[in-house]
Amino acid sequence: MLSKEAREDLERQQYRIVGDHSAVKVCGWTKNLLRGRGGCYKLKFYGIMSHQCLQMSTSLSCANRCVFCWRGYKAPVSKGWRWNVDDPAMILDESLRAQAKLLIGYRGSDKVLARLYEQAGTVKHVALSLTGEPITYPRINDLLNLFNQRGISTFLVTNAQYPDAIRALAPVTQLYLSLDAATKELLKKVDVPLFADYWERLQESLDALAAKEGRTCIRLTAVKGLNMTHPADYAKLILKGDPDFLEVKAYMHVGASRLRLTADHMPLHEEVRDFARDVLAYLPDYEFVSEHFPSRVVMIAHKRFKQRGQWRTWLDFPAFKRLSLSGEPFTGLDYSKLTPKACLGVTDKKTPSKEESRARKLKREERYTKLRERLTTAKAKRAAEEGDENELE
Ligand code: SF4
Repeated sequence: MLSKEAREDLERQQYRIVGDHSAVKVCGWTKNLLRGRGGCYKLKFYGIMSHQCLQMSTSLSCANRCVFCWRGYKAPVSKGWRWNVDDPAMILDESLRAQAKLLIGYRGSDKVLARLYEQAGTVKHVALSLTGEPITYPRINDLLNLFNQRGISTFLVTNAQYPDAIRALAPVTQLYLSLDAATKELLKKVDVPLFADYWERLQESLDALAAKEGRTCIRLTAVKGLNMTHPADYAKLILKGDPDFLEVKAYMHVGASRLRLTADHMPLHEEVRDFARDVLAYLPDYEFVSEHFPSRVVMIAHKRFKQRGQWRTWLDFPAFKRLSLSGEPFTGLDYSKLTPKACLGVTDKKTPSKEESRARKLKREERYTKLRERLTTAKAKRAAEEGDENELE
């Protein structure tokens, strides 16, 4: 699937290519949490432990060339699958091995919390969203079932161009559908799709999403000055897909997207929130639930996930494993549990100014230094006590 040059280019960017068409890369938030600096927004919204998350893809190829994508335009694109089909068990084992190898450099670092590093050795979650279109891998269902058997939860992201694959998909903990524009003309401009019937494929994918039994989420990537328009049309499409969750997330000015867009296209958190509020005005069965400032994302959920006045957006992983292997019908609510109070709420906070951020950063550094010192002292004290006990013995 990849030329030698493209493979080397990705390896230089800390990707590890697995087999012919899969890849792994340690997520920035996995590293962040290992350093005790907080997890990703999916930890806050759904209870995903970022330090035990494997970020990967089973296809480096895609049928879209979205202008906001961090991938370069040298990345493979294709409508159909025309490569070898690697064995799913090999992909799973080699991806876990690649992740473990990539994390070796963190072992023993005094910037990393040893307890979290130890836990990171057990992957509990896979994000099939790293790059390309993982759903096109012909044996995706075999791989998903292997993850389910191992009790590794699965988030899979699709760009809504493969409705048949969505219909046929094996149980996924949370299925994401990207909705990048609200009109046919704008979708062509934003996603630059290969398929001529890209709009019809989106419609069919929304219908297929609505029919899925597990948890579903529609994600809007908000690009300022490009697709933060037509809230009513977005709402119509969202209602068609009937998702359990809706994430409205800012475009991030990173990677090769900087060749196509400017930093001004990256909305502030409050601009994302206001746009989400505009869309929400047309979604009476949905409500704001939470936000994550660093990722400039807000989460909206269907009220069916609010029971007796309490939100249930966090995942019950053992329940999902049991249900996904049972062969019995189930709904997303069957493996959802209470959202901790600390993770709830959408404020009207504004993005801090540069000075404010700098001051906060300094404060955080002080806090981390104190935390590390306390941990180091406790460790030394424990070692000393153990030393004494051994002598006594
Ligand atoms: S869920 Fe996504 S953002 Fe969070 S750690 Fe995994 S790959 Fe990163």
